[in-house]
Amino acid sequence: MDIIFGPVNSRRFGKSLGIDLSPTKKQCNFDCLYCELAPAQTVASYQDILSVSEIISALKKALIHHKDIDVITLTANGEPTLYPYLEELIDQINCIKNDTKTLILSNGSTINQAKIQKALYKLDSVKLSLDCATNSCLKKLDRAHHDITIESIMEGMLSFRKKYTNPLIIETLFVKNLNDKEEEIIQLNQFLLQLKPDRIDIGTIDRPPAYDVGSLSYEDLYTISQQFDHKLPIYISSRKKIESKPARYSRNEILQTLSKRPLSPEDIEILFDATSQEELQKLQKEGKITVKEQNNINFYIIL
Ligand code: SF4
Repeated sequence: MDIIFGPVNSRRFGKSLGIDLSPTKKQCNFDCLYCELAPAQTVASYQDILSVSEIISALKKALIHHKDIDVITLTANGEPTLYPYLEELIDQINCIKNDTKTLILSNGSTINQAKIQKALYKLDSVKLSLDCATNSCLKKLDRAHHDITIESIMEGMLSFRKKYTNPLIIETLFVKNLNDKEEEIIQLNQFLLQLKPDRIDIGTIDRPPAYDVGSLSYEDLYTISQQFDHKLPIYISSRKKIESKPARYSRNEILQTLSKRPLSPEDIEILFDATSQEELQKLQKEGKITVKEQNNINFYIIL
């Protein structure tokens, strides 16, 4: 039983040591079509429960070997916020972590619960998934446990955001012909403008999914990113199936493109040919554009 895994190097979060709160089996209140774990019946609570002391002792041992960790990440084979002693565990991690940051990767389903919010306030970063803005999508794509509604998730996120001042990151995973439709994106956009997360990572299926569903290409994700308001800090986290060659952009086209959507250096490499990239550097030197860091990711933006 491996409670601790990694370290894993992540560009977005640094060198991360993971804690798996459900190492023996999948325990989740979602059964997402794209899950990389095998399909399983949803649960409202954990049946296999580790003790806090077991987890802390495994973490202490791992920290002896790995002294250069940037972040301790709470995760699970399933949903980590279903772990019943979450706040106590976070309190104890905070006592031993020194300068190391803490992060949780949650599906967002429990964020309307006061006790979950109270526990998550004690973390340095929170990353919540939000694939859908409608109940029909939530049932179809995330196959949420019967008592979970999109309204409770969204209201929970908004009330959490009001008090949580550390980085809040939203992750949306797009699946072909499911949540990539315009109506769904319009509603997601409206909600995200209200929520104002510090970053929004959009991606697609990168590993074999539990069910027979399709992924999108980088180009599809780029088109989707343009359907969101340009004020939203959207980062395309998946580079799947890049088919198009970098293209030539004039000065005006560069400025126009950046006015619609801030671009990361990775986006620039995919979209802009060498001459356009030089032009971008010139525009930066002239003070027309700048680079802004948004939670470990740089974005080129217009001044
Ligand atoms: S929330 Fe995560 S663990 Fe649960 S079913 Fe979805 S992808 Fe799998």
